Amino acid sequence: MHSDTTLTAASVETAELTLDPENWDEMKVLGRRMVDDMLEHLRTLRERPVWQPMPEQVKQALRERPPEHPEGAEAAYRDFQRDVLPYATGNVHPRFWGWVMGTGTPMGMLAEMLAAGMNPNVFGGEQSACYVEEQVVEWFRDLIGYPASGGGLLVSSCSQATLTCLTVARDVKLGVDVKEGGLASMSKRPVLYASSETHNSIDKAASVLGLGRNGVCSIRVNAAYEMDTRALRTAIRRDLEEGLKPFCIVASAGTVNTGALDNFNEIADIAREYDLWMHVDGAIGTVGAMSPKLRPLFAGMERAESIAFDLHKWMYMPYGVACALVRNPDELRASFTPVIATYLARGTGGLAAGKYYYGGIGMDLSRAFLALKVWMSIKEQGVAKYRALIEQNVEDTRYLVARVETTPDLEVAAPAPLNVACIRFKPAGVSEADADALNREIVIQLHERGIAVPSGGIVGSRYVIRVANTNQRSRREDFDILVAAIHDIGHELLPSIATAA
Ligand SMILES: *Cc1c(COP(=O)(O)O)cnc(C)c1O
Repeated sequence: MHSDTTLTAASVETAELTLDPENWDEMKVLGRRMVDDMLEHLRTLRERPVWQPMPEQVKQALRERPPEHPEGAEAAYRDFQRDVLPYATGNVHPRFWGWVMGTGTPMGMLAEMLAAGMNPNVFGGEQSACYVEEQVVEWFRDLIGYPASGGGLLVSSCSQATLTCLTVARDVKLGVDVKEGGLASMSKRPVLYASSETHNSIDKAASVLGLGRNGVCSIRVNAAYEMDTRALRTAIRRDLEEGLKPFCIVASAGTVNTGALDNFNEIADIAREYDLWMHVDGAIGTVGAMSPKLRPLFAGMERAESIAFDLHKWMYMPYGVACALVRNPDELRASFTPVIATYLARGTGGLAAGKYYYGGIGMDLSRAFLALKVWMSIKEQGVAKYRALIEQNVEDTRYLVARVETTPDLEVAAPAPLNVACIRFKPAGVSEADADALNREIVIQLHERGIAVPSGGIVGSRYVIRVANTNQRSRREDFDILVAAIHDIGHELLPSIATAA
């Protein structure tokens, strides 16, 4: 067609840039290698330390300036393998039980790759990803026993889901038009109630929402670390008498320290009596309600106006994905579509048509395809497998508790109703304060020797070793290894405490 093809091709080459590979076949080879390498890495996790410290030269390499000129895909991958991959948190490992972290799955990883390849913007409109997201949210709504009127969206974390839900609580319950006049239109100070064991993402959300930390009233817990509902009622009455505006109660479905579940029915009754919003922080526990065996622990959770829960913790999905569910999803729209923008108007046909507008029911407008990894994982394994795994995690936690109870010098430091156990090395004759110091050092040694990663924390007033089991790779033998290591390291450290005293 063109008479002077060489000239045309040459000028195009210099003028028109792209980030696509020059050689697609080479990219395919590299891509296959990456998939092979990473699956092999996952297959052989058990052979490596859970965690290892980062050498200084690696930290140095990660402080270099960005390259001006290409190093190439191969070199970028080599740098990843050398400087990044070996120094991860370790939460993919079978003996990682620190804080509350999920393990992810090979299928989840592959689905992430597919989602990234498709790279849709899931803002809304007529596209498959919106249908997949709605289906996933409805699956979980039904699986946890939440009413069929409920709906919501996926977000990157439970902290975000909490912020989303509490925004709606604020807008619906404050009795003034907060969306119009802001909190400045309040004559009474709004108050939200949560137990002293509640996760600090609630305080964070309250602070971001302009309620301030003074707007969060901390309610004491009972011996099982559950919210003391009598104290809750007293606090609400007192605040009403003092002219404040109680508007929301946050109940926990699995507290971060001990996995305690609040009494949802009592809290729902109190919320109804005082016309307050009931929200559930179910970051850790909510998906446990999928199991008929565990469901009784969650009785009344379905009465909440909203629930925030993670899928990257106990559903083992790759980070980051969580769900914000609201009983009346129209309220999400009211909160997150303050003004209609003409540039986002819904079309009568084409991509901009259809019922979906995720950008208008949450904070993010441009949104990743978070739902695909969840959708494909559930299809791959089936719901029954997830239920059984969740039950296995609870049973293994009970096994660990039983092992600790029968091991000399170890004690169980708090009730373990779900998947979190709190353990303490406490030989006779060692003071509580010395035991605190010992247990702190045991946690550090377990990490640094690459044996296991539990975390530590203060429960009651004592330092405990905390094991949160949301791990789809742990076996019974891993808990045996943990118990033996705590015992042995404890005794190894004991003389140093004795000399210090
Ligand atoms: C982890 C956690 C959160 C926060 O969830 P992210 O997904 O980490 O933002 C909230 N509440 C509890 C009880 C948690 O364990």
